[in-house]
Amino acid sequence: MQEVILLKPGEIFLKGQNRKLFESALLRNLKHKVSKFGEFEVKNVESVISIKTQHSDLDSLIPQISKVFGISSYCKALLVSKDLQTIKESAVKILSELSEFSTFKIEAKRASKDFPLTSFQICSEVGAYVVKMLNFKVDVNNPDVVLKVEIRIDGAYLATSHERGAGGLPSGTSGGGAVLISGGIDSPVAAYMMAKRGMLLSAIHFATPPYTSARSEIKVRKILEKLSEFSGDISFFKPEFTKIQEAIKKSCHNELFTIISRRVMIKTAEKIATSNNCSCLITGESLGQVASQTMEAIECTSAVASIPIFRPLIGSDKEEIIKIAKKIDTFKISIEPFEDCCSIFSPTHPKLKPKIETVKKEEQKIENLENLIKETIENLHEDRIKN
Ligand code: ATP
Ligand code: MG
Repeated sequence: MQEVILLKPGEIFLKGQNRKLFESALLRNLKHKVSKFGEFEVKNVESVISIKTQHSDLDSLIPQISKVFGISSYCKALLVSKDLQTIKESAVKILSELSEFSTFKIEAKRASKDFPLTSFQICSEVGAYVVKMLNFKVDVNNPDVVLKVEIRIDGAYLATSHERGAGGLPSGTSGGGAVLISGGIDSPVAAYMMAKRGMLLSAIHFATPPYTSARSEIKVRKILEKLSEFSGDISFFKPEFTKIQEAIKKSCHNELFTIISRRVMIKTAEKIATSNNCSCLITGESLGQVASQTMEAIECTSAVASIPIFRPLIGSDKEEIIKIAKKIDTFKISIEPFEDCCSIFSPTHPKLKPKIETVKKEEQKIENLENLIKETIENLHEDRIKN
């Protein structure tokens, strides 16, 4: 008899020929995750992953496992030998240790056909034994507790509670993306959503010292540390935006300041992304949320990029975004006060419907913009957030 954690992969079953690739990525990510918490054996048998240990604490892994993408559900189970009497006694042991319930149901699955009883027979035999020994009632429609018995090649697994996993696809199966991260509520959520689809993250934060302080960077770092618990390691790039923003301020019409800043950010970010294995940019924009996120403004920012810009929050309301931010625990960091590099120079009346031709013309007034971008990239600070 041994306690194990059983994990069921998520959408991997949709992957056909590529299934092996997804399974091995998930196994690799899980092994890496659990290795920091003790000595565990992580194995994939017939597309179900089990985690076992001789000496370490299995329970300590549960909060970690809920952050691994590619898992649809997981449970703590008891692994016993494939012998009917042992299964019956184990069922009684598990149910007798639970409190506050009176009705139950057994659900059986015979994944390994070398067991002599059918699923239906397992349910009736085990159910009858529990009724006899513990005097609980069977309720197949609305039971207080469901005990699942799964007969697999290496034994019988018994479990009462199944938790939802993090879902998504294993990290590293969808290439690399660079998130433009501000320190606000939205961009960390956008990054999380793309990481959930298997994307490896890099992060780019534009700072404007001395207008923004080191505290802003520390805040972004704390957010990235939280994100890396889900996404794995993150490369963190910190371009200095001061000279560029001062040049925009000096040369361009004030009402176009924000939109031109965004365009230069995207231009610079694209160069950083493509030289660091990232084939897309990610932002936390949500349609109509602020002046720089109207349809016309988004058209202006998108026009400078030649790689895709993913905006996973484009159709989300702030409330929905906050709900995810709370779930991934970035919300409380995001609401700490900080100086935003754009809001410092921001116009009181930004242009709501900027015209791309006007914006381009205005942008040309900036002297040496290409050189300023080049200089920013040459002086780029890079860091690595390890998980
Ligand atoms: P957030 O909550 O992510 O800051 P926001 O609602 O404040 O978003 P904006 O300030 O308009 O929106 O920023 C829109 C997007 O531009 C952000 O989601 C982020 O992706 C990017 N961005 C803004 N400021 C910065 C910055 N200093 N460095 C990098 N990216 C930024
Ligand atoms: Mg912001």
